[in-house]
Amino acid sequence: MAELLKKGAKMLPEICPICKSPLFEQNGKTWCPNCKREVIFLKKERKGYSKDLGVFFSLKKNLLGKISSYSDLLSKLGEEEKEEIRETLNILNLQLSLFKKLIEIMDSITLKEEKQ
Ligand SMILES: [Zn+2]
Repeated sequence: MAELLKKGAKMLPEICPICKSPLFEQNGKTWCPNCKREVIFLKKERKGYSKDLGVFFSLKKNLLGKISSYSDLLSKLGEEEKEEIRETLNILNLQLSLFKKLIEIMDSITLKEEKQ
């Protein structure tokens, strides 16, 4: 640490996100002397929205996976398996309406974010 200060590095109020050591600024770069690496701070996210979208993106992905496996299941069912077909269609119906809702929510969040 002392060596860094001798080299003209400036101690910063921020701490390293990995080891919690104080960070130093040198030649316009932020360094952690403990990890011996440059630390890059991401711009602070705008209130909530981007984070919320992350949750919806993973739900969308999971939901698409499920829709695809139920669609496969449906294709494997025989004509005589009426009860199973009915059940699979019910589940697919729920998944599709949830998917539609999800897309609407994601659109509304994106629009809100653009308006800011
Ligand atoms: Zn560190």
